[in-house]
Amino acid sequence: STAATPPATAGRILIIGATGFMGQFMTKASLGLGRSTYLLLRPGSLTPSKAAIVKSFQDRGAKVIHGVINDKELMVKILKDYEIDVVISLVGGGNLMDQRTLVDAIKSVKTVKRFLPSEFGHDTDRANPVEPGLTMYKEKRLVRRLIEESGIPYTYICCNSIASWPYHDNCHPSKVPPPVDQFLIYGDGSVKAYFVDGNDIGKFTMKAIDDIRTRNKNVHFRPPSNCYSINELASLWEKIIGRKIPRAIVSAEDLLAAAAENCIPRSIVAAFTHDIFINGCQINFSIEGPNDIEIGTLYPDEKFRCLEECFKDFVPMTHDMNVHVGTTEINNNRKSLVEVAPITAM
Ligand code: NDP
Repeated sequence: STAATPPATAGRILIIGATGFMGQFMTKASLGLGRSTYLLLRPGSLTPSKAAIVKSFQDRGAKVIHGVINDKELMVKILKDYEIDVVISLVGGGNLMDQRTLVDAIKSVKTVKRFLPSEFGHDTDRANPVEPGLTMYKEKRLVRRLIEESGIPYTYICCNSIASWPYHDNCHPSKVPPPVDQFLIYGDGSVKAYFVDGNDIGKFTMKAIDDIRTRNKNVHFRPPSNCYSINELASLWEKIIGRKIPRAIVSAEDLLAAAAENCIPRSIVAAFTHDIFINGCQINFSIEGPNDIEIGTLYPDEKFRCLEECFKDFVPMTHDMNVHVGTTEINNNRKSLVEVAPITAM
């Protein structure tokens, strides 16, 4: 290696959870910038689809390291041997507590310049969903407190919702197009939320990791062009596909009942849906605290992809599903697509 310390922008990045839903966006963004990108993969055989994802990342220069974050000795060795500067964790909801050991390892090596724990949703100190969503937030909060006590430089990415139809029973909604048969409107449908393109979450997170202004801050994603109520989302989709779709109401009580079923992960998503569209958890607080920063104010020249563009991406997906956009044909395929959703949620 060269004698000079690399500047922050040349720092080595370790991504944990690169094969996951959010991790893929982050890995693409890191590789797209030509950053030195290491992926921590759990040992063992990958599913064919995950193997293909890893291969495509390796083809673009990613270096694979095998390990698990809940092995402190191994993590210390990895962080030292590979001279990791930035650690971005995107472990899923079932593995949040594994990060306790990772925090310990980062603390003991002392060389990591920035740690981003697996947040990437709401501001978990402020949002207050019902159970079982609350348990997940308590875990994210606990990891925050451990990081702060350890003195590790951190950034908490509060990117709000992913740009897609917010199905209350699906953790990874951007894999499914908006409805073509019926909209389910939560409550009166007027509460706003932010819907951000996954690639933009990656792009802006990559900016934040080297930025001194985001050190030890909650970084909020509130792009005005992506702030919609569910009624407005429905109208946007109708405009794109050129026809009206009937609306049915899912009440606050219905969402609470779905949460109370305590069926994981579906009930966690129902709890968050209630928090977003009934409580207004993305918009009911101002971000003027000393630890808050809105990402758009840091990079005023960088644009977010507007929601209309994001939703247009879904049109070909509705064709794949044999749905005749522009007719009233009922789509029977959505349900099965929704049910293949894997673990975890925001
Ligand atoms: P996924 O379940 O899709 O992926 C989790 C990844 O973490 C996988 O790559 C998994 O590896 C890896 N992983 C899990 N445990 C370990 C471990 N101990 N050591 C190493 N790797 C591990 O997660 P999501 O993308 O759904 O969630 C990531 C974060 O993003 C969460 O905090 C979640 O709440 C948030 N999120 C936010 C959304 C939003 O709309 N804002 C939507 C969805 C998630 P393997 O391949 O081996 O399983």
